[in-house]
Amino acid sequence: MILYNSLTHKREEFYTNEPGKVKIYTCGPTVYHFAHIGNLRSYIMEDILVRYLEYAGYDVLRVMNITDVGHLSSDADTGEDKMLKGAKREHKTVMEIADYYTKAFFADADKLNIKRPDVTQPATGCIAEFIEMIKVLLEKGYAYQAGGNVYFDTSKLDRYYVFGEHDAEDLEVGVREGVEADENKKNKADFVLWFTKSKFEDQELKWESPWGYGYPGWHIECSAISVKYCGEYLDIHCGGIDNQFPHHTNEIAQSESYLGHKWCNFWFHVLHLNTASGKMSKSSGKFLTVSVLEEQGIDPLAYRYFCLNSHYRKNLVFSDEALENAATAYKKLRTRCAALKEDGEVNEAALEEFRAKFREALDNDLVTSLALTAVYDVLKAEINDATKRAIIADYDKVLALDLLKPYPEEKKDDADPEILAKIAERAAAKKAKDYAKADAIRAELAAQGITLIDTPQGTTYKRG
Ligand code: AMP
Ligand code: ZN
Repeated sequence: MILYNSLTHKREEFYTNEPGKVKIYTCGPTVYHFAHIGNLRSYIMEDILVRYLEYAGYDVLRVMNITDVGHLSSDADTGEDKMLKGAKREHKTVMEIADYYTKAFFADADKLNIKRPDVTQPATGCIAEFIEMIKVLLEKGYAYQAGGNVYFDTSKLDRYYVFGEHDAEDLEVGVREGVEADENKKNKADFVLWFTKSKFEDQELKWESPWGYGYPGWHIECSAISVKYCGEYLDIHCGGIDNQFPHHTNEIAQSESYLGHKWCNFWFHVLHLNTASGKMSKSSGKFLTVSVLEEQGIDPLAYRYFCLNSHYRKNLVFSDEALENAATAYKKLRTRCAALKEDGEVNEAALEEFRAKFREALDNDLVTSLALTAVYDVLKAEINDATKRAIIADYDKVLALDLLKPYPEEKKDDADPEILAKIAERAAAKKAKDYAKADAIRAELAAQGITLIDTPQGTTYKRG
């Protein structure tokens, strides 16, 4: 199998540390808000990687952290803790926010058929491990204390910018964008391992440490959690491309200095989902979630299908129109697949031939669009339905699009004239640009357990 490795900038023949076994670490969500569909693009494509490795016969161990402390508004160690921001926004405690959005993340992931990792570890559950790793980094001379914080000393490394030299400029841009440089840092690229001092004294979660009462930096959690569950040698590390620098660069600095040897062989980075105005992000106000898609009548698996139509190493531009087209195509495809009859014998030779075609697409750095084309080719092929079903069932172990499950009947529950009158009233309010009234009608119906679904053909509703 050929896999692109962001670390070497090359497509490489995939190899593992132990024969037949793959250890994968994934940066999990920062649980201060819902995951947006951009975040979920990364997790869908990582899911394809995991499922395909399993399909190809590997025994996969996948570990994911949950960031519930230490991720500041700027990835370059400045600003307020994102979790605290979420807690203030919703007048809750940080742990309540973390619990709520962790559950919401997995509920969304389930709807997208993203497999749960073998291990999920909230950062707040591993403080002792972080402290231990920081202690070793200090002992080995890779870290220093200044102004109450502990910093990683990037000047101690032969090469810090492991993913590419351009990253040095990215950091400067980050600093230029209105964020003050930290005077305690010996080198511009140094980063915090443990905070006891921050401008935000109301940091909610703090722990005792040899360096004072405080909290961990964001990067140390992934190094320590990975080593805890995957050991000293990692096969693949995943994440969205924005994590490459500084987060993954810092993870490599910490892990390799701590371990004293190379840590991870393959780096798998998924490019962004962009809107017409740029990258979709949690901090920039409006973003789309799985629930919003559902309210618009879009099946979450149609979004998965939309993502599989493009390569994970290309930016994907999102538009309502493109998603609606994908939803229509997905519904048609699933309806055709699910209608296949279970007639007669499976043609084993054809099954093998089609399996080879599928593997050819995915062995080539996961060209998922060609894997989807293979499904259409199966439907067109001169073979009986039972064979088509068997091939599609096999493909769906990786695609996970529920292709053989009948598409759910759309519930046309539009018999209640009172609700229809409210829908008409809301449509009139919207037309008159009286959005406050339109929202009030939506809220009134929601309070009765009725969800409105806006589709291009008009508004329908469902109960519950
Ligand atoms: P976060 O919850 O912000 O820590 O991000 C979770 C994951 O989503 C990380 O792997 C990010 O790199 C990734 N991510 C963030 N924004 C996008 C986007 N617009 N498209 C794809 N992946 C993203
Ligand atoms: Zn991470």
